[in-house]
Amino acid sequence: MTQAEYWLERAAFEARRATCQSARCGAVLVLGDRCVGMGSNGPAVGSRLRCNDTAPSTRRPKSDRTCCVHAEWRALLQSWPTTNTTLVFTRVDDTGQRVSSGLPYCTVCSRLALASGVRSWVLEHEGVVCEYDAETYDELSYAYDERLDVSELAAVMSSTIERFRVPADSWLSRPWTER
Ligand SMILES: [Zn+2]
Ligand SMILES: [Zn+2]
Repeated sequence: MTQAEYWLERAAFEARRATCQSARCGAVLVLGDRCVGMGSNGPAVGSRLRCNDTAPSTRRPKSDRTCCVHAEWRALLQSWPTTNTTLVFTRVDDTGQRVSSGLPYCTVCSRLALASGVRSWVLEHEGVVCEYDAETYDELSYAYDERLDVSELAAVMSSTIERFRVPADSWLSRPWTER
C-alpha cells in the first residue's frame, strides 16, 4: 500500500462516519507521516438544519452549497494553524465504498486551507491520485463552474489529472509501513 492509498483509506474511514444526509465526505490532515486532524461532514452541533430539509433557508446557502460543516473544516480545527500539512479528501457512497473525490470546487475550504498554512491537497479522480499546491487548489476552486456539462467536466478533469498526477518519486508514492 502506498502512502496515498493509506491516507485516502483513512479519509474514507472518516467519510463513513459522516452525518450529512446528502453526501459523505472525509478529510485527514497529514504532517510528515502523522495524522494531526480528521473530520467528516455533518450538521453543526446545535443546528437543526439538515441538507435534505425543504425549508427555504437550507435551499439557499449564502456562500456555500450546503448547510453542513465540511470535513475539511473539522480536520483543520483540530490542529490549527497547520503549516506544511497535506489535506487528504475523499468521499464514500451509500454503501461506504470509496469513490472519486470530485474536482476542487469549494472556495470556503480552499481559502481556509490556504490561510491555515496547508501546503497541499490530495484528491483522487477516477482512481488517479493528484496532489495540488494549496494556492493552485484555491484558484481551481474559484475557476470551477458547476454549469459545465458532463463532457466539458470530463475535459477539465483529464487536463487537471495530467497536471497534478502524483509522480512516482513523490512521498505519496512511497510504500506505507506501519509505525
Ligand atoms: Zn449536509
Ligand atoms: Zn468545503
